[in-house]
Amino acid sequence: MRIFVNVLSIAVLIIIGYCIFMSYRKKHRLSKVVGRILIVGWAIVGFDMLTHVVTSENLWMFLRTGRLILSSWMMFFLFRFSIEYVEMRIKRPVIKWIMAGVMIADSVSAVANFFTKHLFWVQKTVLFDGEAYFEMEMGEFLYTHHMILLVMAAICILSLLYKGFTAPKFYRQKYMLIAAMTLAIVVAGFLSIPVPIDISLFGYAFDAICIYYCALVYTPQKLLPQTLMSVADGMSVGLLMYDADGNKLYVNRYAKDLLQEDRKIISGLGHTFEEWCHKRYMNPEIEWSNEQVFYSGDEEIHFEISLHRLEDSRKHLQGGYYLIQNRTEEVKKLRLERYFATHDSLTGLYNKEYFCEICDKYIKNHLDEDLYMVCTDIKDFKMINDFLGTKTGDMVLANFAKKLKESLPKAVAVGRWSNDVFSVLIPKAEYQEVLFGEETRAFFFEDTDNNVLFPIVNYVGIFEVTGGAVPASVMCDRARMAITTVKGDYNKRVAYYDDKLRENIRREQELVGYLHDALRDGQITVHLQPQTTADGKVIGAEALVRWFHPEKGTISPSEFVPLFEKNGLITDVDRYIWELACKLLRKWKDEGHDDMYISVNVSPRDLYFINIYKVLTDLVEKYEIDPKNLKLEITETAIVLDFKRQMELIKRLRRDGFIVEMDDFGSGYSSLNLLKDLHVDILKIDMVFLKKAEDEERSKKILQMIISLSKNLGMPVITEGVENEEQLKYLSEMGCDMFQGYYFAKPMDIETFEKTYLN
Ligand code: C2E
Ligand code: CA
Ligand code: CA
Repeated sequence: MRIFVNVLSIAVLIIIGYCIFMSYRKKHRLSKVVGRILIVGWAIVGFDMLTHVVTSENLWMFLRTGRLILSSWMMFFLFRFSIEYVEMRIKRPVIKWIMAGVMIADSVSAVANFFTKHLFWVQKTVLFDGEAYFEMEMGEFLYTHHMILLVMAAICILSLLYKGFTAPKFYRQKYMLIAAMTLAIVVAGFLSIPVPIDISLFGYAFDAICIYYCALVYTPQKLLPQTLMSVADGMSVGLLMYDADGNKLYVNRYAKDLLQEDRKIISGLGHTFEEWCHKRYMNPEIEWSNEQVFYSGDEEIHFEISLHRLEDSRKHLQGGYYLIQNRTEEVKKLRLERYFATHDSLTGLYNKEYFCEICDKYIKNHLDEDLYMVCTDIKDFKMINDFLGTKTGDMVLANFAKKLKESLPKAVAVGRWSNDVFSVLIPKAEYQEVLFGEETRAFFFEDTDNNVLFPIVNYVGIFEVTGGAVPASVMCDRARMAITTVKGDYNKRVAYYDDKLRENIRREQELVGYLHDALRDGQITVHLQPQTTADGKVIGAEALVRWFHPEKGTISPSEFVPLFEKNGLITDVDRYIWELACKLLRKWKDEGHDDMYISVNVSPRDLYFINIYKVLTDLVEKYEIDPKNLKLEITETAIVLDFKRQMELIKRLRRDGFIVEMDDFGSGYSSLNLLKDLHVDILKIDMVFLKKAEDEERSKKILQMIISLSKNLGMPVITEGVENEEQLKYLSEMGCDMFQGYYFAKPMDIETFEKTYLN
């Protein structure tokens, strides 16, 4: 019996020893508390084993006392463990200290027992196996010791039970097992009190091992699948699992929602979502992933679906699953973004970039088709904006775009190129001029608030598509280039980009290439055209640019001035001419002719691209001439386009002594209303009023009105283009002060001018 118990004890010692080693290695939150229980448990078993082998009564007493103390502490540590294990927070450490105090008292009492024998004393006995054992005789206070243990065991068991019932069911077993083992020690303890071989020691040992296992090793078996299922249920991705035979195995919450009958998600072929998934799953296709469109009523639902198959180690199909993501919102957002990135927000037409993209693609795929690239530009749109406001301007554009689109259902693409320029790619056979607003009445804009019926006229430029070599953007540029040839022309609205135009453009490019050398080599000079009073007295001259090219001969300013105005090079020409004029004025001054002025032209471009105030003041300073001798002809159009700013500039120039003339009055926006706000020195009336017109009387009346108004405002008037005596006569009668025209003299070179008028 003794040997049997000892062998068993050694085995238990080894096991507990292993558990101690492992629990300290685990570095778990509970490692330390569990380790302490194990160590005490180990010591109890060790002490107990020794009690069976010692022969000395005193030694037996010592070991038994030790065991008593250890069992108390084990119960204490068990108590501490259960409190930590169930995560009960004891707010006041006082309780822990009281418990520890009771333990210490209990231990002291056990030591005192050597002398007092109030707990137990030893007695020899012989058991059924015939061997002699020491036996414990209980003293009257042993029950106090047992009561203490019992109370702690009770707390321990109760807290574990409480935790066991409230914990998720997976963890219940863990708590219950320890509670049961602790209960077992208590019961075993009571049962073994009267017998010499204390079986409760195995209770302690198993409890310790059990605690180690439950607290540090054990994870509930179903925990993993259940946890995975909870994770799967919470995912915002549908998960639909099938077994190898296509039976539904698992559907997470997200997918359940999709499979619901009342959602009525139908595939393009009329299958329900579930049927669709099952059908594809049964297909022997391996795995795939793609975007799939379903329908719920009229609404499109976009799913990103992927099918995955699972195989076991022997490559046998084990099952498979779908991952389903609803991408509808993203697709909608993307489409909207794409729409805004490719369409013009005002008119809803394609924007420039997208229009070109579509056209390039189409042309590439339809190389045999005869196509036109058409650009159309609303005439004087700026005026609509200026006079009716940008809001109305926007309305006109939106309306125009709508009508254009409606009248061109056969067009490949209709886009908005820029402000008021629209572009259309259309099969040649479908092109008709009327569709592009020949019946401009279709494009009347009615402003009912102000009772205005505004005719919207548009220019049309056409480029014939020939093969796919020219990009759409260049085709549009060319179509727009064609428009520039009819702009301002009252009789022509439509222009084709053709050989003549190409030749013009080539020549323009040539001229641009020549300009630099021309300025350097002195090919560019001025001619002077006299300006006179009514009696023919020459008081000054307009400087008009002339270009004598060594090979091309004389190039007319009406050819190169508009070109350089278009590309901005005119500023170089003008600065050059101004300097020539200043040089000449200086020369005349030195010769005593400082009463003669020169009038120079200022292009609208100059006002925008160079600081003309600085350029001009620098020039008069450099040549030390009186600014009043350098008259500045600024065209009406240039001022009207940015009225406030230009008036400010003119004010500064006049303050510095320059004489500012409003050139070409009557050729552009001309409004009599404008006159009163125009603070310039002289008004120069355009020669259109002198041209033979159908209604000459009417022209004269307007002329009279302009001159009278101007004079009333204190502005002297000069009229250009006077070609005969009759014109001179009636202009004089109307009050015109100065004149310029072939009647007096044509523009002439400087030498001739000086010879004729300065001597
Ligand atoms: P503009 O400023 O209106 O100049 C008057 C134009 O009318 C000149 O043409 C002149 O030769 C012409 N002219 C003068 N009297 C008569 C006449 O009695 N009958 C007719 N039919 N024409 C007459 P030009 O020299 O060919 O200049 C054309 C335009 O080129 C000028 O019109 C002006 O706008 C521009 N221009 C000329 N020189 C310069 C310059 O140095 N700088 C700038 N920016 N533009 C210039
Ligand atoms: Ca002029
Ligand atoms: Ca003029």
